[in-house]
Amino acid sequence: MDHFFTGIAPNMQRRAFNQHLQRSALALALAPWMRALAAPKTRVYAWRTSPFALGVASGRPRAESLVLWTRLILSDEDRAELGDTTLGVQVEVFADAAMKRRVQHTVVLTDASRGHSVHLHVQKLQPATDYWYRFRQGDALSAVGLTRTAPALNADVRQLRIALASCQHYEQGQYVAHQDIAQQSLDFVLFVGDYIYESSNPQYALRKHSGPEPKTLPQYRERYAQYKRDPMLQAAHAAHPWVLMWDDHEVVNDYANDQDRNYTDPQQFLLRRAAAYQAYFEHQPVLLGPDANSPQGASMRLYDQLSWGQLADVWTLDCRQYRSPQACPDPLRGGGRMVTQCEALDDPQRSMLGMAQERWLSQTLSTSTRTWKLLGQATMIAPTSIPAPVGRATYTDAWDGYPQARLRLLQTVVDARLQNVVTLGGDVHMNVASNLRLVPNDPLSPIVASEFVTTSITSRGMGDNMLAVIKASNSDVLHARADERGYSLITVTPERVRCDFRTTAFPAGSEAGMKTQASFVVYKDKAGVQSL
Ligand code: FE
Ligand code: CA
Repeated sequence: MDHFFTGIAPNMQRRAFNQHLQRSALALALAPWMRALAAPKTRVYAWRTSPFALGVASGRPRAESLVLWTRLILSDEDRAELGDTTLGVQVEVFADAAMKRRVQHTVVLTDASRGHSVHLHVQKLQPATDYWYRFRQGDALSAVGLTRTAPALNADVRQLRIALASCQHYEQGQYVAHQDIAQQSLDFVLFVGDYIYESSNPQYALRKHSGPEPKTLPQYRERYAQYKRDPMLQAAHAAHPWVLMWDDHEVVNDYANDQDRNYTDPQQFLLRRAAAYQAYFEHQPVLLGPDANSPQGASMRLYDQLSWGQLADVWTLDCRQYRSPQACPDPLRGGGRMVTQCEALDDPQRSMLGMAQERWLSQTLSTSTRTWKLLGQATMIAPTSIPAPVGRATYTDAWDGYPQARLRLLQTVVDARLQNVVTLGGDVHMNVASNLRLVPNDPLSPIVASEFVTTSITSRGMGDNMLAVIKASNSDVLHARADERGYSLITVTPERVRCDFRTTAFPAGSEAGMKTQASFVVYKDKAGVQSL
């Protein structure tokens, strides 16, 4: 098998030896053998089309390590020439923008079995430090990415700045929010799900998905490749490390664990989930390895926790892979919906995170010693139920559909006497600032945590009439707007967490500007959101 290693300096002794051979009579006899042995290792492949069309990315920032990512895309001509060749991709990491001080240089092998994706876990880095990186294969060079490590675990950190984002339906707008994110001074982007959408809604399409609704690995790869070709999305990845969690649309709308809305045989559905998870892995800067994020069949552990010096602990919670199915589903079409008089909602066996992740969260949250505890999770925790002729109508896909699990989460906060828990969510395509109480909307129940939910990057939000009813019926929700698209700037200091909802009108056009829709703060040791 050929290895098109490039840029690895050919062994100088071998080169000298070759030169010697070429001058000798023996060389004539050995020449074909020498070419076969040495030529593939030193050959620089001339790409007809640059394979770096999907850009570069970094993620999983720690004090001493990061994950760097790219994926090679082979044109038909290059594929015809290269065949099933394993490719060596050089990864270079620099300590300066001029890219003079190279601190790491590695070759990562990749091939078609992993979609030519490249993941490198760079280690032995300095804490709280900027790094520039790029990839090289043959004569092709990638764009340069900028990334940065987390502070040392014991560091006294004055500020953490996060862009909270979710829900980027490709068809429903341009990624101007990502352009804005790329220009911000940030520590990392926290993306909480719906990175791709499997489905289309022609009514709201500014641009078109290519290919059918993905169900197989090649189809999911094609969908990711289309999203990743967007220059504004590439800019946001090239500018900052990302901390990633998924939601439902990375597989299919409203899936829960091993069930989809069509009540597909779970064994069948898990084949689709395995394809979707593999494609997710191949396209994101997540950690390779059986103890990390590598998919194992239809399973992939993505939930995680990172620390930002002594200032904050940040969790990313998986609200899809392990959850109980939505309560009281329509027998003809499963998934979430509005339900009334649904007794299953109160079943304590039902879980949003699955019991293993719940235990892990409870244990790590209870023992966290850092000032702020930021819970990144895919959807909305605060209540959105509305009055109905009999009782209240509740939407079953968000945490309202898992009230016992929500109570356990908030009871953990109370039992561990945690003062500074702020949850950061997405999924619902609206900006939300709300208080979280053990008993939702009950003014006699103390506020135990605070919630910010970001609106979507592009995906359409609910209508104003419905939202007005939700707001009027849920006193814990202090701010809710579904009309604008964008992301949220989260600025964490020892004294407070500030949320600036950065928005543009729907649909987001390529020339659209971003403004701040509203700003809220949570002060240290005083749970609850306050308008600025
Ligand atoms: Fe969404
Ligand atoms: Ca979603």
